[in-house]
Amino acid sequence: MRNLDNKVAIVTGGAQGIGAGIVDVLINRGAKIAIVDMQFNSAEKTSACLDQYGMNILPISEDISTSEGCLQAIENTVNHFGTVDFLINNAAPGRNRSHIGTLADADWSDHSNVVLQAVTRLTEAALPHMKKSASPAIVNISSVTAAAVAPEQCSWSYHVSKSGLNQMTRYLACLLGEHGIRVNAVAPGLIDRSEGHKLSDSEKNQHIIRSVVPLQRAGTSKEIGDIVAFLCSDEASYLTGQILIADGGMGTK
Ligand code: NAD
Repeated sequence: MRNLDNKVAIVTGGAQGIGAGIVDVLINRGAKIAIVDMQFNSAEKTSACLDQYGMNILPISEDISTSEGCLQAIENTVNHFGTVDFLINNAAPGRNRSHIGTLADADWSDHSNVVLQAVTRLTEAALPHMKKSASPAIVNISSVTAAAVAPEQCSWSYHVSKSGLNQMTRYLACLLGEHGIRVNAVAPGLIDRSEGHKLSDSEKNQHIIRSVVPLQRAGTSKEIGDIVAFLCSDEASYLTGQILIADGGMGTK
């Protein structure tokens, strides 16, 4: 299905994992994509990405935890592709399990800079271009942990920043609706990110997954990509301010 022909998407953190799955799906549906990821400071990673996708991809090596990185990412995208239709805020810092008593200042600043401030800065910089788009959309990648208290899974700053991202999603939907810009989020549960990084690689994890996920398996990056593609498409034209939970039914248990 090529329902996103010639649309221009920015995907943050698209060099690996769920972001790479999103890139794959959007490209297959005809979009052109600027991938903003610190990993493209490696020439090898950049040329592998260009080899894989060719002309429709622009790897941008910027750190979106800084305001210059965000501005540069939007400027490079517009200089190269001429516009921005979709902004997919997927990047997040590596996870840790710090909680009250062990949380370092850097945990807070990493999560608030990349999960919250970057979304604000990228949205502000992309706005003049998105306002001119015929079907603009923002999709934030949240997490089921935004609405759960599960200290054994991720850090306090991760949970709290993802909760903030959900609220930011609703807030931006409200503020940007008058420009026709739809803003939604996807909250994944347990996802097999990519080959070599599969949750379900270990026997112990497979047991946990079977006991907590009604569908009895982890999700895939492609399945998250499919939901993002739907949220960008005209099929979702009356959908905004929503947090779509993609957890294989885990929340029902
Ligand atoms: P990942 O760690 O595999 O990939 C994240 C990417 O973001 C990396 O390529 C990294 O280089 C990039 N990145 C990080 N900080 C950056 C910065 N400051 N500037 C530019 N690039 C930066 O992550 P993942 O597991 O694929 O998760 C992707 C998203 O999905 C995250 O928002 C995560 O919170 C969310 N999520 C993941 C899962 C899961 O099971 N993997 C579950 C729920 C939510």
